[in-house]
Amino acid sequence: MEQLDHWIGGSSAAPSRGDYLGVTNPASGVTVRRIASGDSVDIAAAVAAASDATEPWRQVPGLARARLFSDLARAMRADAQHLALLEISETGKPESVALGEIEGSATYFDFYGGLIGMPVGDTLDVAPDQHVYTRREPFGVVGVITPWNVPLNQAARACAPALAAGNTVVVKPSEYTSSTTIRLAQLATEVGFGPGVFNVVLGTGAEVGAALVEHPDVAKVAFTGSVPTGRAIGKIAAERIIPLTLELGGKSANIIFADADVDAAVAGAVQAFTANAGQVCSAGTRLLVHRSIHDEVVAKLVERAASVRVGEDIGPLITRDQFARVQEYFKVAEADGAHTETGGTVSELAEETGGFYIDPTIYTSIDNSARIAREEVFGPVVVVIPFADDAEAVALANESDYGLVAGVWTRDVSRALTISDRLRVGQVFVNTWSTASVQTPFGGWKNSGYGREKGSEALHHYSQVKCVTIKL
Ligand code: NAD
Repeated sequence: MEQLDHWIGGSSAAPSRGDYLGVTNPASGVTVRRIASGDSVDIAAAVAAASDATEPWRQVPGLARARLFSDLARAMRADAQHLALLEISETGKPESVALGEIEGSATYFDFYGGLIGMPVGDTLDVAPDQHVYTRREPFGVVGVITPWNVPLNQAARACAPALAAGNTVVVKPSEYTSSTTIRLAQLATEVGFGPGVFNVVLGTGAEVGAALVEHPDVAKVAFTGSVPTGRAIGKIAAERIIPLTLELGGKSANIIFADADVDAAVAGAVQAFTANAGQVCSAGTRLLVHRSIHDEVVAKLVERAASVRVGEDIGPLITRDQFARVQEYFKVAEADGAHTETGGTVSELAEETGGFYIDPTIYTSIDNSARIAREEVFGPVVVVIPFADDAEAVALANESDYGLVAGVWTRDVSRALTISDRLRVGQVFVNTWSTASVQTPFGGWKNSGYGREKGSEALHHYSQVKCVTIKL
């Protein structure tokens, strides 16, 4: 069986203990490859390589670094079919979805490569006999820990700005989806990123992830994943006094007002809770609908959800555990008295293939305090909750431990702006549901995390300000 090792100092490296973990294809339940099961010894080797590479990487002139980014984006596109096959083998995603994510991943290198060398400091007019300026400097070694739902994209989203800001990286991908991150590191090395600039250590979170955050030479960590893990990492980072970017979960509200284009809103709402089989941190899983159009919206929603082809439009859930967890939520919803409009079932495809497929599921007759309305399910499941007026819509949307995204569907521009201002979330979509752009800053409020990925905003989180004062 294929075996995947770490990528350290520009080449493949076997795990120090010689242990490997199996990786399962969730579309079939079959083990597809084995990956290195790393430990703190492997992390130490990767961080040492990354530390050694820091100064040489900083010495590469900005335009030469920018050219490497273009070369990497080009190499990713040339390798897209191969990258897609790797991603599909570990996530079961439909090919078109995998290819779209790979194109999105390459765009991070286009975008941040383009920003290298842009002015990043200020001169400050403090006094006639002083020349004062600020500059942004890299942290040094940045640790990146990613989840399994959009694997290559999440690695690229953090690594591109981290590298553009002049850092070197040690990445710990999810143990369920390591292949494309290793391939990205190989491609980076092939196009000329120096040895040690881009390292990847494979293995479990408890061993490799924790060792990465604890390592004294890791100066900043970018984490994407669950709230409990974010909290655990936050404790270590607090002890070490290092900055974190935390991209955590969500239970995002999608609000349809009575004056909305209902058909467009329903199409957006179905996309919002079914894309990637609901395994999206920014999924719109609480649909708040004005009471006057509630029944019409639910009927159209059920009809539209029926057109989502399980296995073709959406893939399986990532693991057997996640598959079981979503089915547990079906019981929780039923016990809380929710009415199942559609779904609440394992897909027929699961029985045919052994894959972890779930049907799109819509619940009504439930209020915002129920567990199914408060907890992140990470499956294609939405709850529909009616509201009476704008104030109640905002109150319900904000009544959540999370604050990642929100959707607003209305034809009234004043309402769109007023409601957007009052939502306690990191990003709002009006009359659309899309997180696709590399240019838009992305991140959460409340338990959804802090710091921002994407956009020029991310560069601020991967660099620190130095102020220089010169007496003239
Ligand atoms: P997870 O927290 O279990 O794992 C994420 C990563 O952290 C994995 O690489 C894992 O191995 C590692 N990890 C686990 N325990 C660790 C520890 N103690 N120390 C260090 N690292 C550790 O999350 P998951 O199940 O892989 O991903 C799903 C979660 O991620 C969901 O809650 C989802 O909302 C969230 N997510 C957020 C975003 C975002 O951008 N906000 C994007 C995707 C997913």
